[in-house]
Amino acid sequence: MKNIAVIGAGTMGNGIAHTFAQSGFKVQLIDISEVSLKKGMETISKNLDRMVAKEKINETDKNKTLANISTFTTIAEGVKLADLVVEAATENIDLKLNIFKQLEAACPSHTILATNTSSISITQIAAVTQRPEMVIGMHFMNPVPIMKLVEIIRGYNTSNEVTHTIMELSKTLGKVPVEVNDYPGFVANRILMPMLNESIEALYNGVAGVEEIDTVMKLGMAHPMGPLQLADFIGLDVCLSILNVMYDGFKNPKYAPCPLLVNMVQAGKLGIKSGEGFYDYSENRKAEKVSKQFLK
Ligand code: NAD
Repeated sequence: MKNIAVIGAGTMGNGIAHTFAQSGFKVQLIDISEVSLKKGMETISKNLDRMVAKEKINETDKNKTLANISTFTTIAEGVKLADLVVEAATENIDLKLNIFKQLEAACPSHTILATNTSSISITQIAAVTQRPEMVIGMHFMNPVPIMKLVEIIRGYNTSNEVTHTIMELSKTLGKVPVEVNDYPGFVANRILMPMLNESIEALYNGVAGVEEIDTVMKLGMAHPMGPLQLADFIGLDVCLSILNVMYDGFKNPKYAPCPLLVNMVQAGKLGIKSGEGFYDYSENRKAEKVSKQFLK
């Protein structure tokens, strides 16, 4: 493995590109939006500066990491040399199926195709390619350069060899890979999302207020941030969409999204990214507090 193409330069894509580049891989970062590519590179640079300030890396490491990343606006150009593609574009099934059809046509035959999807079936994505045994889920956590876990999801047809390669590769990034099978929500979100949904349900039922619910979970269960704060951080639209995937996939009412969550998303209250969710981020004070706590 030498060349890693990363599709999408947003929150996850730039973190994935940063992580591979810092480990010495050549990264081709691809986004249809020039603005996203520029922002993504700025974020990587800022995050590297923070690591230099904390003396985790030096200035030379920073420059080497940046020099390992090149940017592209078309998939065909960006994946020509790829040994692995990690797709981290917007969470939308049609968009991802379309990207994987393009990858099938543009990638060399040895290229492994991974997706960072939070909830879409790996098996369904693999089915639009001619190489389903070489398609796998590589679910990084946010913020990618900091979080140790990579959930490795085997689709129905993913081969042992490809799974082994991706598990070993994740270790070379300093991550801890965990192998799971391809069912709605995989493991991380299957357990996390019902907990977030239940905390919203407790608020909706008037059991306690926002700060009270978060304090119970922070101080009582030693969670680094409260569940409502975490839902704001992830994005309430993202939480709703993952719950719906599990609700549809299992046909089980225990995954039904709380009506308050549905209402908030319909009202455009999406958490940090929209400036308001369970907390108000209008002065950016809480937002800053959240990310600082998370990055500690
Ligand atoms: P984001 O909205 O921050 O970034 C998505 C990027 O994809 C944008 O820059 C957009 O321009 C780009 N894009 C859209 N269509 C494209 C195309 N056809 N070709 C190339 N680029 C395209 O999204 P994100 O939060 O980084 O999420 C990306 C993926 O990672 C999703 O599948 C999401 O479910 C998953 N994920 C997100 C998180 C999280 O905490 N945000 C955690 C784990 C997994």
